Amino acid sequence: MKASIEENIAQVTEQIADACRHAGRPVASVSLLAVSKTRPAEDIRAAHACGLNRFGENYLQEALDKIDELSDLDLEWHFIGPIQSNKTRPIAEHFHWVHSVDRLKIGQRLSDQRPEAMPPLNICLQVNISREQSKSGCLPEEAPELAKALSQLPGIRLRGLMAIPKATDDEQEQRRAFADLRQLLEQLAADVPGLDTLSMGMSGDLIPAVAEGATIVRIGTALFGARIPKNV
Ligand SMILES: *Cc1c(COP(=O)(O)O)cnc(C)c1O
Repeated sequence: MKASIEENIAQVTEQIADACRHAGRPVASVSLLAVSKTRPAEDIRAAHACGLNRFGENYLQEALDKIDELSDLDLEWHFIGPIQSNKTRPIAEHFHWVHSVDRLKIGQRLSDQRPEAMPPLNICLQVNISREQSKSGCLPEEAPELAKALSQLPGIRLRGLMAIPKATDDEQEQRRAFADLRQLLEQLAADVPGLDTLSMGMSGDLIPAVAEGATIVRIGTALFGARIPKNV
């Protein structure tokens, strides 16, 4: 198990480096977030032993159990799943980043509930960039006003945008969605200071995402293999 995680990390790291070279970007400008949802804590230990320290989780209780179990390691935890407003407190108390804020109320609660002794929680505004029905994320035209409001909350720090574009095998279409998100970030940056993050690209589309400016790629399957189904 450990050997294959190690090989997978080497392969993904090489893919990111290649994509950076093609795009004329420094390799260090893209950070690899290992999406460990449904994977046991042991897989995270194995990945950490290979040099990874940023992990993304979608399911709150599962994440809290792993954060507790792995508290001997120096890890950076990112919440990337849908957020119910009655579940914001443990997120504010236990994570370093949240990528899936898509409305002001969630940002306000995270800001209010962030413990004062901790630095502000890093936030990405999630955008429904492909305008899919019943998908998470604000619409692109809602982003400017939301970003301005989120950037003024003291307990959080708005860092940028996150999106999960419509699934497609067409690389041109993938690139277009990522380019749309990059242009939206550039537009917001005229009004909102400190925006430096584009969280975009998963196992199937990390190369076009890096080509269009991703600064965080969120990779699960390509590192850990197919996910263990949740029986809920
Ligand atoms: C599961 C998930 C990922 C990782 O997807 P893979 O295709 O397994 O790399 C990335 N981002 C979000 C928001 C996810 O839920």
